[in-house]
Amino acid sequence: MFLYLRPIGHIENTILSELIDPVNEAFGVLVKVDLPMDVPENAYDPGRGQYHSSKILEEMSETIPEDASHVLGITDVDLYVPQLNFVFGEASNKVAVISITRLRNEYYGLPKDYELFKNRIIKEAIHEIGHMFGFKHCPKKECVMHFSNSLEDTDTKSYRLCSKCQALF
Ligand SMILES: [Zn+2]
Ligand SMILES: [Zn+2]
Repeated sequence: MFLYLRPIGHIENTILSELIDPVNEAFGVLVKVDLPMDVPENAYDPGRGQYHSSKILEEMSETIPEDASHVLGITDVDLYVPQLNFVFGEASNKVAVISITRLRNEYYGLPKDYELFKNRIIKEAIHEIGHMFGFKHCPKKECVMHFSNSLEDTDTKSYRLCSKCQALF
């Protein structure tokens, strides 16, 4: 069985490649890049100018490859759930999605920093995959399962599970 990384809309191949080893190391899973999927237009809320992540998860669930244990979608559209202004990602049991839109410095008018951008993507990917593996949010700020309410939280955490979370794995 494989954990699939699925581009939703256009995502650079280099971004997908950068995720393979860290995801493999974090969870010991075999990782494959999936075929791309279009961004589901029914998930778009014109009033908010954002996509409802739960609707993307529903659409993803309909096309899970036979040899997939889990599928992580990666998209460059801004995501929300109704209770929040935005989300970096959302997960259910077998499918999860992350948005890279708010992980770029440029989104905040700051200078481009590819290393930082890449590290943020890895952390958010591992976080949502962690949820698919049953991990809940962790109070430790340095743990990858700590909830990111802002980019500062993402930058503070590492890509690793803390020892307490690791012990649950
Ligand atoms: Zn979370
Ligand atoms: Zn933890």
